Amino acid sequence: MNMLRLVFVVSLLVGCGTKAPAVTRGAVEPRTSAPPKAPPSTSPYVLVLGTAQDAGLPQIGCTGQHCVRAARDPAQRRFSSAILLCDPRTGMRWLFDATPDLREQLHFANGHPSSRQLPGSRPPLVEGIFLTHAHIGHYTGLMFLGRESYGAKQVPVFGTERMRDFLTNNGPWSQLVSLGNIELRPIAPPDTVKLAADLSVQAIPVVHRDEFSDTVAFIVRGPERALLYLPDIDKWSRWDTRIEEVLAKVDFALLDGTFFDGDEVPARAMSEIPHPFIRESLDRFGPLSLDERRKVVFTHMNHSNPAHESGGEAAVEIEKAGMSVAYRGQVFPL
Ligand SMILES: [Zn+2]
Ligand SMILES: [Zn+2]
Repeated sequence: MNMLRLVFVVSLLVGCGTKAPAVTRGAVEPRTSAPPKAPPSTSPYVLVLGTAQDAGLPQIGCTGQHCVRAARDPAQRRFSSAILLCDPRTGMRWLFDATPDLREQLHFANGHPSSRQLPGSRPPLVEGIFLTHAHIGHYTGLMFLGRESYGAKQVPVFGTERMRDFLTNNGPWSQLVSLGNIELRPIAPPDTVKLAADLSVQAIPVVHRDEFSDTVAFIVRGPERALLYLPDIDKWSRWDTRIEEVLAKVDFALLDGTFFDGDEVPARAMSEIPHPFIRESLDRFGPLSLDERRKVVFTHMNHSNPAHESGGEAAVEIEKAGMSVAYRGQVFPL
């Protein structure tokens, strides 16, 4: 029995003997920038590369306590929300959302999966990139694939048709297309992209502020488990899909936890930037079974969100409700 499975089994035992997922609980953000060791697994897994809202932590110009602390202490910094799907069986990997922190995130992900061995001085960074939407935290990292940076060759980029049109028709992104740094692969939700016989990615449409593109979430299905990646949505009640129904079909759900509560950013009209407050999600998911609630892992947290603080009051409130907060380096076995 390998280590991951052991962790999973232990988690099952701790979780009232039921089918609770293997979410590591109460863990902290790594204290150094050293990349995590790839887990000793032969099965696909998801590695968390960032947990902050688009603008990261610290955020530009912010003198709030979280940002000041993060500016001083690298351990308090948070990269924008992204995940990496790794398949140790083939050495392949796929990125979900290309953030402004992509440079550092890919260094952080060195050695994932451990079987990844590519010849040459400029091997492919990833086998493909899945984009949720065209807000700055989710696609602008593509710039590092271009001529001024890595000069990537034909990296498949999966996004909706509107996302493809946006990237094709607007500079500087259009140059990535014309120079062949990226190769756009439009997907029409609920399309599924097959990555291996037992590994696939399905796009599902999500209601969000769609100024430049529409928005999707992704369900990653592996040999044994499935993970939902849904970093941005306006409000659960505005979605024509019931989040509980999606939750029932997956084992892990990385969900929009942008704001903890409604009074968090007094200088901004919260109605212009709608997201489900974590407190609203805790209330909504409260009646679900503990097994269902344990699937919920919040990510995409704004710099103002107290849940960033590991072990803080907000994180404890979330834990007490049976849910948890994602952290960079977290691994979800599929
Ligand atoms: Zn976002
Ligand atoms: Zn967004």
